[in-house]
Amino acid sequence: MSRSAHPAGPRHADVLPEGHYSAPPTDLNSLDPKVWAHTVRRDADGAVTVGGIDVKRLAGEFGTPAYILDEADFRARARAWRTAFGHDADVFYAGKAFLSRAVVRWLHEEGLNLDVCSGGELATALSAGMPPERIAFHGNNKSAGEIERAVRAGVGRVVLDSFQEIVRVAHIAQSLGKRQKVQIRVTVGVEAHTHEFIATAHEDQKFGIPLAGGQAAEAVRRALQLDGLEVIGVHSHIGSQIFDMSGFEVAARRVVGLLKEIRDEHGVELPEIDLGGGLGIAYTSDDDPREPHEIAKALTEIVSGACDAARLRTPRISVEPGRAIVGPTAFTLYEVGTIKPLDGLRTYVSVDGGMSDNIRTALYDAEYSVALVSRESAAEPMLCRVVGKHCESGDIVVKDAFLPADLAPGDLIAVPATGAYCRSMASNYNHALRPPVVAVLDGEARVIVRRETEEDLLRLDVG
Ligand SMILES: *Cc1c(COP(=O)(O)O)cnc(C)c1O
Repeated sequence: MSRSAHPAGPRHADVLPEGHYSAPPTDLNSLDPKVWAHTVRRDADGAVTVGGIDVKRLAGEFGTPAYILDEADFRARARAWRTAFGHDADVFYAGKAFLSRAVVRWLHEEGLNLDVCSGGELATALSAGMPPERIAFHGNNKSAGEIERAVRAGVGRVVLDSFQEIVRVAHIAQSLGKRQKVQIRVTVGVEAHTHEFIATAHEDQKFGIPLAGGQAAEAVRRALQLDGLEVIGVHSHIGSQIFDMSGFEVAARRVVGLLKEIRDEHGVELPEIDLGGGLGIAYTSDDDPREPHEIAKALTEIVSGACDAARLRTPRISVEPGRAIVGPTAFTLYEVGTIKPLDGLRTYVSVDGGMSDNIRTALYDAEYSVALVSRESAAEPMLCRVVGKHCESGDIVVKDAFLPADLAPGDLIAVPATGAYCRSMASNYNHALRPPVVAVLDGEARVIVRRETEEDLLRLDVG
């Protein structure tokens, strides 16, 4: 998969411009199950259904753009992670990928724990009844108020991200007469994104305390001395959209090395190790993610192997998948508006949303696929760029995609794998109204996050 910059293509009508696509697909009507939610099908009449409901009905009832989330798929993926890791490990869903009260209830019912990284996410989790001991609180700059709320609520762990925070959390816990369970987040010098990882990546980033130079060991030393803290383990998160397990392997070995150092110096074997999230999903047919049971097996073997070598008891493992659970379960449903063919380049297809509901393409060059879903088409493939309606030329949803040449205003198209980091990163740019999240299950659809209204916008603007 090319991740090169995106130069303008050659301007000949007979040559396709450069881009991130491969050859035009042979069948534009087929829906690759890798990138679409489990219950998505193309019906006999050519329209697409999800959870047994026609997307035209969803568009009619809930409007567009809308995020359509397959609840059965979400639960199945959550359960697959839970089952894969069994009872000797914990799965924390990373709430920042997408959080709502319905999601919190599903996670609770499926036996998962939850990561939050702000007061707002914590409030959502608590208001939907997630038991506080199953919540982990993250963040590189938690405010004193947020820490106090988390400790008061009784969260299962606070993940400490700096030397200052060690003291801050200890102080707050002590003043509340509590002893807070904590993990220390370390940066292990591994950075992984997609198919590659760098094992000597510099620690030049805002998260965590570097292993390098003994800083992480010093952090654990200090935390162990503070009465307000109970140090339960070490945490490492190495990147996002990772397919290659070797980054986790290096990270786990380095973290276990730290656990050994702690054991040798303090006689303490920390009982837990958290390997973070970042497991990749298929955004296009080029991506081949692994199944949770393969990931669980690999991670468990890596950690137990490293611990055996260091003569340590294998700690309890936790992982924090966000994208890998919610990402594939939703698609964004758009209505096609203006279509603008540019000779020798591509056709610009404008939709009724854009960077306000999916910032990932503009933010980090993310790749997506797209399909015509309101009907079938036998027309030729047409090279397209799906763009939004915002006042910004970088307002691109899908950089390069093939749609049928008979595409017309009013058609519905859908961008799959938008469950993670789309609604949660949505904005009101151009005073766009953030789209609803509609959950479908067994022929029924219900709004779990409603569409914003102009009253919502005006209510915040107090004049
Ligand atoms: C973002 C993040 C995750 C989740 O990442 P995904 O790519 O969604 O799996 C997990 N843990 C931490 C600490 C994170 O910052």
